Amino acid sequence: MASDFVYSQPVKIYFGEGKFSHLGEILNELGSKRCVIACGKHFSPEAEMLRGELDCIVGVFGGVEQNPQLSGIEETVRLCRDLDADTVIGIGGGSSLDTAKFAAAVTLGTGEPIEYYRGLRPFPDKRLTIVAVPTTAGTGSEVTQVSVVSHGTEKKTINNPVFMPRAAIVDPVLSSTVPPRTTMNTGLDALAHALEGYWSRNHQPISDLMAIEAVRIILGNLEEAYRNGSDRWARSNMAYAALLGGLSFALPKTAASHACSYPLSEDYHLPHGEACAFTLDSLVRINADERLEYLCRAVGLKDTEELAQRIAALKALGGLRTRLSDLGEVDLDKLCRDCAAHPLMNNNPVKMDESALRRMFEALR
Ligand code: NAD
Repeated sequence: MASDFVYSQPVKIYFGEGKFSHLGEILNELGSKRCVIACGKHFSPEAEMLRGELDCIVGVFGGVEQNPQLSGIEETVRLCRDLDADTVIGIGGGSSLDTAKFAAAVTLGTGEPIEYYRGLRPFPDKRLTIVAVPTTAGTGSEVTQVSVVSHGTEKKTINNPVFMPRAAIVDPVLSSTVPPRTTMNTGLDALAHALEGYWSRNHQPISDLMAIEAVRIILGNLEEAYRNGSDRWARSNMAYAALLGGLSFALPKTAASHACSYPLSEDYHLPHGEACAFTLDSLVRINADERLEYLCRAVGLKDTEELAQRIAALKALGGLRTRLSDLGEVDLDKLCRDCAAHPLMNNNPVKMDESALRRMFEALR
């Protein structure tokens, strides 16, 4: 008998090569007349050009950094308030999308962004329209109600329906310029989303289907996208798989590898995807069970051990850090404590307390 579930996915998704060229029409359809773009350095010259071309784009914040800081959100909110914006368009990797999502959620409030970040005020009832345009194939932020924001060294995941985009434009062409190392980091982030959505304690049937398909496509295309960034086929498949990865964890949420990624990013400065990948193959072995064996067979692998080995091989190919010794001086007590305390850890199918985490990290010395 099929298990009970409640499934919803409110984002209108425009997927395909060249879809970004329809931005003006899509904004028109949404009724967006005064839009601010939030993006990083790689896209800011193009964003300025768009401002010249489309009357409805009234401002650009082009200073989003990796692991985006609250200060970038504060600048975006100031711009939106000054320009009386009705829409924020995040264009870039997850950092730009999350900046846009947070800024759109708080612009119409009377408080400062830090008050919402600290949970001192509820999010305002009214918010700006959010349009998400991913240029990496990784986070799936275009279809989640999550915004990940850093303030100093603290990195916080805030989960709230106010962050849900109205529309996502997923145009694989935009990812053709992502450098190889970022291609690998972000591709492994997408793989972590799919696997963690699948083995999450809150997994559910529709999400499971998308997770399995995402894993299959990533294992078949990430290596080629890394080796040959101009391969349109591989880029397109990775963009689709990252979208599916986002959809597959949006409701079930992620688990232990994402929980561990926060201390690894905060204290050892690993980019998000690399931080997730650091423990992913270990967790495939730890979480191995009948369901995971089923996924492995469904994507054409022999067993979970082969999946763990494929992940390790991708990490080695991308030159990612894989051992504690690659991280410099590690405070293992603090690392285990912080990982164990992260709320996403409760979502892991196998209980990972401090001593289980210590065993996992000891094996990575
Ligand atoms: P990113 O947004 O930090 O971008 C990585 C780098 O790649 C940046 O320097 C960026 O400028 C550059 N870049 C992006 N697109 C490019 C392109 N097309 N060509 C050349 N360079 C390009 O990286 P990311 O991995 O996409 O996002 C990571 C962030 O997203 C983290 O903060 C992470 O915690 C967050 N995240 C959010 C969610 C969510 O659901 N909201 C999910 C997973 C991760």
